[in-house]
Amino acid sequence: MSSRTLDADVVVVGAGPVGLYTATLLAAAGADVVVLERRRERTAHSRAIGIHPPALAALTRAGAAEELVRAGVRIAAGEARCAGRRVARLSFGGVPGAHPFVLAVPQFRTEAVLERRAAEAGADLRRGVEARGLRQGITAGADRVELRTTAGPVAARFVIGADGARSTVRSAAGIGTRGRTYPDTYAMGDFAEDPAPDPTGPGRLAVLYLERDGIVESFPLPDGVRRWVVRTRGLVPQPTADWLAATVEARTGVALDPGRNSMLSSFAVRRRIADRFVRGRVALVGDAAHEVSPIGGQGMNLGWLDAAMLVPRLLEALQPGPADGNDDAGREGGSRPGPDVAARLRDYSAVRRRAALAAARQAHLNMALGRPLAEPWLSLRNGAIGRAAAAGPVHDAVARVFTMSA
Ligand SMILES: Cc1cc2nc3c(=O)[nH]c(=O)nc-3n(C[C@H](O)[C@H](O)[C@H](O)COP(=O)(O)OP(=O)(O)OC[C@H]3O[C@@H](n4cnc5c(N)ncnc54)[C@H](O)[C@@H]3O)c2cc1C
Repeated sequence: MSSRTLDADVVVVGAGPVGLYTATLLAAAGADVVVLERRRERTAHSRAIGIHPPALAALTRAGAAEELVRAGVRIAAGEARCAGRRVARLSFGGVPGAHPFVLAVPQFRTEAVLERRAAEAGADLRRGVEARGLRQGITAGADRVELRTTAGPVAARFVIGADGARSTVRSAAGIGTRGRTYPDTYAMGDFAEDPAPDPTGPGRLAVLYLERDGIVESFPLPDGVRRWVVRTRGLVPQPTADWLAATVEARTGVALDPGRNSMLSSFAVRRRIADRFVRGRVALVGDAAHEVSPIGGQGMNLGWLDAAMLVPRLLEALQPGPADGNDDAGREGGSRPGPDVAARLRDYSAVRRRAALAAARQAHLNMALGRPLAEPWLSLRNGAIGRAAAAGPVHDAVARVFTMSA
């Protein structure tokens, strides 16, 4: 990129799953979109795996759903077990109009599909470029945001911060956050299944082992692999395959072969939600707006649903005409969009912030469910879960919550 100011309708900072999806929707509708990503290459580190039905519907609009469904594993039901016995079963097929499964795809594969779609739609992805700061409406013109980047200045009518939990865009726009750190910590690893599952078989099972020493979760992935997640007493900095396999076996009785392990990691949990998702011509999506616990698998899905709501509002603002007339010269450190656009962006901020808070509450409950529990409380709690899940309306309500369809 030259030191001459690059100018675009929209600059998206961050080419994670949410930034790429946002850019695809904007570019496919004809907007001039530049995506800045500080990493030169995509990371192969595996984080998100679960794509819920509402997000899959949103991905259809970016032309990405079909390829992802082909690449992924359909999880048609979830089962809770304890001490070798089934406690409850949840079918994901009962939500009218929604895909009857949660799709499991490793995040790096999802990002590869979205990156291809963004390029096909005409988004201009620039890797190795880091955003360092921004100014609204001062030097670049009243209706522009100017970004300072490692490759020179970039101006745009709107900037979208999709730059993750430690968002530079968020802090440069002066948007605060609130949050907390949880005591919960986890370790996880991917293990090839033995024997390999039948790839043409019916949708497969997610299993939650609600055990005395803490939860163990197991999810099918493509290529005959399962992900195992265990709650730990404190962060295990470098889990080994032997240690993880032994922990899973001690709690659940399931024997994993450490020699068939392909990924290991551990994580602690934070919750952090931006005070507002829009300021002037800067909007936040994804983890830049809200970091929620990975337990329950909601973060990436929430981010896509943010973008699905934000993009039509931005496209409207980009139309020539009075909609984006300036009504202000500096109250927020620069120009604000016109009143109609500003109101629609405020609405985006309020609605998606409520969705993030609800997801954070749900994640809080999910984590509480996985904490160690001694007898008799363990049996009492698991019995109550089993009875509730056996009651039709409760089963359907819980299935909707777990598939983010509520
Ligand atoms: C172990 C684990 C499991 C998870 N499982 C699930 C799950 O099953 N389902 C789910 O929905 N979510 C899950 N999540 C959460 C999910 O991974 C995140 O919500 C998701 O990655 C957020 O996407 P994003 O695009 O908003 O941000 P990110 O993925 O963090 O991407 C941000 C991008 O911005 C780039 N960037 C940052 N700063 C700058 C800058 N200044 N300039 C340029 N580029 C920049 C980064 O390099 C990065 O590529 C999980 C998370 C973890 C840790």
